[in-house]
Amino acid sequence: MTEDLFFNILLILLWAGLACVRIYYRTRPLASQNAEEEQPEGKERVGGWIGVILSIGILGMITTVVLYLIALYVIPLPFILDFQLPLPSIIRWIGVLTGFISIPFLIWIHRTLGKYFAAQLELKEKHKLITVGPYSRVRHPMYTVFILFTSSMALITVNLLIVIFCLAVVLSFPFIARKEEAMLTRLFGDEYRQYLGRTGRFFPRLRRPKKEA
Ligand code: SAH
Repeated sequence: MTEDLFFNILLILLWAGLACVRIYYRTRPLASQNAEEEQPEGKERVGGWIGVILSIGILGMITTVVLYLIALYVIPLPFILDFQLPLPSIIRWIGVLTGFISIPFLIWIHRTLGKYFAAQLELKEKHKLITVGPYSRVRHPMYTVFILFTSSMALITVNLLIVIFCLAVVLSFPFIARKEEAMLTRLFGDEYRQYLGRTGRFFPRLRRPKKEA
């Protein structure tokens, strides 16, 4: 039980860390200043069924994590705790490690993407392609961080419901990334096609791309 408490304190610290970074970068004057400068037709909704799955995944995960903590420490909610998986602590430790690694990465990514960050897929008036820092080897490092962070929630809680919501989030990102890549290819053309050729989508490429003839 004390071990459980320890993992759950780390879980809360991780959420607090992620929330602080997100709130800081979403409310900075720089971000709102640039919102006025969107390109007129450069906005795409992450709509359709993929938007629905992503929203269900995120909302489901947040709600279940809250209910999981309530079930453990406030009022017994057997429904949630019935989904606990009998997995060894090492799995939970891997989750803690993954979660804590994601936060400095998220700061690095926000600092590099700067004013081009957007909660939706959109293009700013003088949008430039960022290809440095975390973007030098990976096209969607922020999505990688969210994949790692949601996975860390599933690993720390070892709760099957949270694992299912985590899968919904993780499986949505390849579809969103593909849509974003199509949007950026429309704007940047060959510059983005070349960038596509030398980077990995969520993780760095293991092998160097072949030189084009
Ligand atoms: N998919 C990226 C960025 C997420 S924020 C990541 O996972 O790190 C979403 C916004 O970033 C989109 O509106 C898109 O216009 C912008 N964007 C994505 N990649 C970019 C890049 N390499 N340079 C500049 N802007 C980019």
